[in-house]
Amino acid sequence: MSDRPLLNRSLRGFGSTIFAEMSALAVKTGAINLGQGFPDTDGPESVREAAVKALRDGRGNQYPPGPGVPELRTAITEHQQRFYGLTFDPDTEVLVTAGATEAIAASMLALLEPGDEVIAFEPFYDSYAASIAMAGATRVPLTLRAPDFRPDLDALRDAITPRTRLLLLNSPHNPTGMVLTRDEVTAIAALAVEHDLLVVTDEVYEHVVFDGEHVPLISLPGMRDRTVSISSSGKTFSFTGWKVGWVTASASLVAAVRTAKQYLTYVSAGPFQYAVAEALRLPGSYFAGFRDDLRGKRDLLSDGLAAAGFEVHRPQGTYFVTTDITPLGEKDGPAFCLGLPERCGVVAVPNAVFYDDPDAGRTLVRFAFCKRHDVLEEAASRLRRLAG
Ligand code: PMP
Ligand code: GLN
Repeated sequence: MSDRPLLNRSLRGFGSTIFAEMSALAVKTGAINLGQGFPDTDGPESVREAAVKALRDGRGNQYPPGPGVPELRTAITEHQQRFYGLTFDPDTEVLVTAGATEAIAASMLALLEPGDEVIAFEPFYDSYAASIAMAGATRVPLTLRAPDFRPDLDALRDAITPRTRLLLLNSPHNPTGMVLTRDEVTAIAALAVEHDLLVVTDEVYEHVVFDGEHVPLISLPGMRDRTVSISSSGKTFSFTGWKVGWVTASASLVAAVRTAKQYLTYVSAGPFQYAVAEALRLPGSYFAGFRDDLRGKRDLLSDGLAAAGFEVHRPQGTYFVTTDITPLGEKDGPAFCLGLPERCGVVAVPNAVFYDDPDAGRTLVRFAFCKRHDVLEEAASRLRRLAG
């Protein structure tokens, strides 16, 4: 074998994801896993049954159509209409993907050229950096800072150069829990129009907003034809293992993203698509109940973390709470998280890994609260050992 590195240069520096690492640590130590964001209770029984039925009825057991099954594409357009008053054509303006992760990767591969700059607020979800790198583009991070992690819109304006092609946004924001306000979304949209930028919005936590409202950027003036809006069934319906996500955008943007997507996976799992179509049609009470349950869990874990001595940045949305470990006399989040299972039997994720500038998030640690009440109570009681 030659000594040429096997891994393509664009992926060098990307090891295994922090989520895989921390979940492996939880399994190894038997600790409560508040690291990786997946619920410990599956979504609605009716939706599970719909998947079983589709499978038994032979719906989706062979390759579904490339853009996704028509039932799901229609249900996605109905959802966009019901919650946001947005109209999309199910045949040309919707694309079903293998989770939001594939939608993000396909969008970057489709829309970027080497040398293009992509502005994203850090800390960012780990697949963003890898997807931008695989497209040969350059990421330009803008740091969201504690305590409230609001975007600095002047810094955003200053960061735009002639090479800026795209803004990659995430609201509600993982890991900080920040939710962009209507004013912020409006200001960002105005900048995108002024500088003729594309915008890709990751809205996977659209239904997990406790304070404020979710405002899809694509609903703002001038944004309909320049925004790729991405969401996923994983978070909203608690089926993260199904990997059914989607894109809604103009026909020409969907066609571009579809071109990349069809050579990544071609299609994603057929029977689950029929089940997600039913999930999207659940009554409003499902969505409100899901959010209200998570609000209670946010408060339970946030109070527990505060009692244990953490500084708590209570999230406006998502099912993650970011804390600062400084009041515990700690300085290094990654080291703290590696030692936490042994110290008190809990796994968390160090926010530092979501920054290009790890110092900016050095003392921040994220806990997931999409877990059963008793699990969160037990975790809170174990964490209290830190208080001494
Ligand atoms: N974006 C964000 C902000 C996330 O937290 C996640 C994790 N689910 C994803 C994208 C990936 O979603 P999916 O599992 O549908 O690929
Ligand atoms: N989105 C989840 C989180 O932030 C994890 C997804 C993954 O493991 N890739 O924890």
